[in-house]
Amino acid sequence: MVDLYSVLGALKDLYGGRYLRPDVYVISLIPGDGIGPEIASATLEVIKKVVDVYGIRVDVRFVEAGDGALSKYGQALPQSSVDIIRKSHTCLKAPVGETSADVIVRLRIMLDLFANIRPVKSYPNTQALRGDIDLVVVRENTEDLYKGLEFYISNNTAVALRVITYEASKRVAEVAFKIASGRRKKVTAVHKSNVLRHTCGLFAKACRDVARNYPDVTYEEQYVDACAANLVRKPQNFDVIVTTNMFGDILSDEAAQVAGSLGLAPSCNLGYEYAIFEPIHGAAFDIAGKGIANPISMILSAALMFEWLGVKYSDDSCIRAARAINDAVYRVLSEGKVLTPDLGGSAKTYELASAIASKIA
Ligand code: ATP
Repeated sequence: MVDLYSVLGALKDLYGGRYLRPDVYVISLIPGDGIGPEIASATLEVIKKVVDVYGIRVDVRFVEAGDGALSKYGQALPQSSVDIIRKSHTCLKAPVGETSADVIVRLRIMLDLFANIRPVKSYPNTQALRGDIDLVVVRENTEDLYKGLEFYISNNTAVALRVITYEASKRVAEVAFKIASGRRKKVTAVHKSNVLRHTCGLFAKACRDVARNYPDVTYEEQYVDACAANLVRKPQNFDVIVTTNMFGDILSDEAAQVAGSLGLAPSCNLGYEYAIFEPIHGAAFDIAGKGIANPISMILSAALMFEWLGVKYSDDSCIRAARAINDAVYRVLSEGKVLTPDLGGSAKTYELASAIASKIA
């Protein structure tokens, strides 16, 4: 049976029961900038409730990183913050402002978080384009144009290098196929190999090679422009999309908006050892300080975090906690009484978080 709430369940063999379950899960929490601290404290309320109900021991350690850290310490990601993150079992991160690349891009490379997993689902009462969207974007997270290899070759000409390797493409494709195996068993590889013959060609070849090992999973390919259109035309047809770093960044924002709001979209930066969980959106300075940000993207990121802890440490309490959070979000949105302005309501961030926490019992 396909578990509607499970995104990471099929990744069990990535960790293979090799990890001893700790007595206390140490979670580093980056409150970030803009709306970050508001949605982080709202999410903490839900975490407190769920660990209480499911008897999970956690030690949440606040970590300074982002624009605030830069002005205070001269570094967006101070070494002391890196040390806390490295010693923790996982990290939950709120959005960071202008220094985002100095924080998350560095952490992705430092901790080899090679796959960015972005589930997109339509919920009731959220202005989603359709009610039956349920897809996952799996984005390569370490290379492509986002390596930042840009330079000027003359005063008026700048170039950027696009790095795509077979190995990085293959390991992200493996993750996509595993996730699809636990869902509706379909993978769409997205690229533009008719124009970018070498880089996208190599990515597509790696995906095809992995596809051969998953005969139960339907495999198809789409060019990125066609995929962008299809996400609006028939988003219900997608199950798992696997793509390169920049295409995945853009397509997952599009998919999240099609499903209602950026404020609903969580993500997981996955590695073989570690993982960081964060909303896909930015610091949203336009609404910061007003207490109206939608905290669901971060609350669902916390659900993904518990699911990953459950998978990595074979801990059923964490799996149940993840399900309980997902279920509580679904129930609150179905009732449609407590909605933030991005969903057409007038509730405050903390009111929505409290409504969700109150459904966890
Ligand atoms: P980045 O490039 O860092 O992703 P961005 O400039 O694309 O950032 P976001 O911060 O992601 O911008 O915000 C885009 C729009 O979505 C803004 O209008 C913002 O108000 C809205 N938005 C983002 N997150 C939320 C949220 N959690 N709740 C409500 N609205 C949000």
